[in-house]
Amino acid sequence: MKKTEISLINLSITACLILIAFVIFSKDEPKVNKQYISIPQPVRHLGFDVSQYVFEPHALKRNQNLGDVLVGEGVSWDSIIKLDNISTELFSIRKFRAKKPFTLVRKDTCAAPHCIVYEPNKFTYIKYYIGDKVDIKRVDRQYDTCVEVANGEITSSLWMAMKDAGLDNSIIDKMEDAMASSVDFYHTQKGDKFKLVYEKIYIDGKPVSNGEILSAAYNNNYGEHFAVLYENENYSGFYDLEGRPTKSSFLRAPLRYSRISSRFNRRRFHPIKKRTIPHLGTDYAAPTGTPIFSVADGTILAAGYSKNNGKYVKIRHDDVYTTQYLHMNGYAKGIKRGARVKQGETIGYVGQTGLATGPHVCFRFWKRGRQINHMRENFAPKDPLPPSELDKFYATRDSLMDLLNTIDYPVTKELIADNQI
Ligand SMILES: [Zn+2]
Repeated sequence: MKKTEISLINLSITACLILIAFVIFSKDEPKVNKQYISIPQPVRHLGFDVSQYVFEPHALKRNQNLGDVLVGEGVSWDSIIKLDNISTELFSIRKFRAKKPFTLVRKDTCAAPHCIVYEPNKFTYIKYYIGDKVDIKRVDRQYDTCVEVANGEITSSLWMAMKDAGLDNSIIDKMEDAMASSVDFYHTQKGDKFKLVYEKIYIDGKPVSNGEILSAAYNNNYGEHFAVLYENENYSGFYDLEGRPTKSSFLRAPLRYSRISSRFNRRRFHPIKKRTIPHLGTDYAAPTGTPIFSVADGTILAAGYSKNNGKYVKIRHDDVYTTQYLHMNGYAKGIKRGARVKQGETIGYVGQTGLATGPHVCFRFWKRGRQINHMRENFAPKDPLPPSELDKFYATRDSLMDLLNTIDYPVTKELIADNQI
C-alpha cells in the first residue's frame, strides 16, 4: 500500500471519528444548526414518495364499477366489500364516474394496488387504502390565491374576447353577475372593451381555476361602467364607484345566450298574419328548452295557455311593473298562480307554442298597465350603501381601482391595421 493511500484512509477514519463524536456529543444538544446539512427531499405525488411507489392511471368504462377493476387487479372481495362500506363516510367508491381518471398506487409493478386515489375536483383527492389495512383519507390540496388583471376587446363575441384574454367561462358568468344591471352581456357589440381585476387559484404553481372578480370596467356605446366587490359582515356585493349596487331590481334579459330576433316596434309587419300589427315585446330566439328566468322578484299572476301566446307566464313585480313570457315549451317546477319567484329564478323553457315561427320567448313589459320597451327603461337601482359605510367602501374602491388602472383597455385592432394611431 502506498503512503498516500494510507494517509487517505487515516484521514477518512479521522473524519468518521469526528463525525461519530459529533453525533454522540450533540445528542443532548437538540439545537444543532442543521442548515448546512442538505437532505434531498423525496419527490411526492399524491402524498407518496415517487421512488417507492408506482402510479397507474385508470378510468372506469361505462357500466363498470371499481369492484370489477379491483378483482381484476388481484384484490380480494373481502377487502372490496370493506372498502365499499367505509367509503360511504367520505366519498363512496360507487360515485366514481365513468371516464373520470383515478390512480392505482402500487408498491411495485406486479403487486396488487396498495391505494386508489380519486380526485372529485382539483382541490381535493380521496385515498382509498386497500393493502393490509382498508382505510380512507381525504386530502385538501393547498392552494394560493393571486390577484391578476386582464383586458379584452369584443371582435366577434364576449366568449372569444374572454378566451383571447386567457379567461374561462366562469369569469363570463361572474362579470355578467357583477354588472347585470348596467351592461346587457347577452347582446354585446363589436368594439366593446373590458378590464378586470380577478383572483386566480394556483396549485403547485399551476393555475387551476378563477376565484372572484374584484373589480371590473366595461366600455361600450353607452359609456364606461364599473363594478367593485365590497364585502364585510354586513354587506356583500358589487357596487359602482359611488357605492350604489350595480344590480338593479330588473335584469336586462330573461335568458342567456340568446339573440334578439324581433325588437319592440309599434309598427311591425307581422310575418304570419301578413299585416302591420304592433310588436309590443322583444323576441329572444334560443334553442328549445333554454331556461327562461324571471327578470325580478315577484308573484305569478298567471301560468296558462292561449291560442296566440301558447304557454305563458305573467309576473307582477310591484305596483308599477308586470312582465310576461310567451311561447314556452313548458313551465318550471312549482310555477303556478300565486307562487313567489326570485330574480333570476327559472320559470319555464323556450318553445314555440302558440303563434310562433320558431323557438323563442316573446318578452313583454308593462309599466302601470301600459306595454313599454324595457330596453329603453332606466330601472331604479337598489338601496345604496349608507353614508356611515362610505369611508370604508371608498378605501376598498380606491385600492381596487388602482389595480384596475395598472392596465389600459386594449387598442382597437382595426385602428392598428389602418395606422390610425
Ligand atoms: Zn314577440
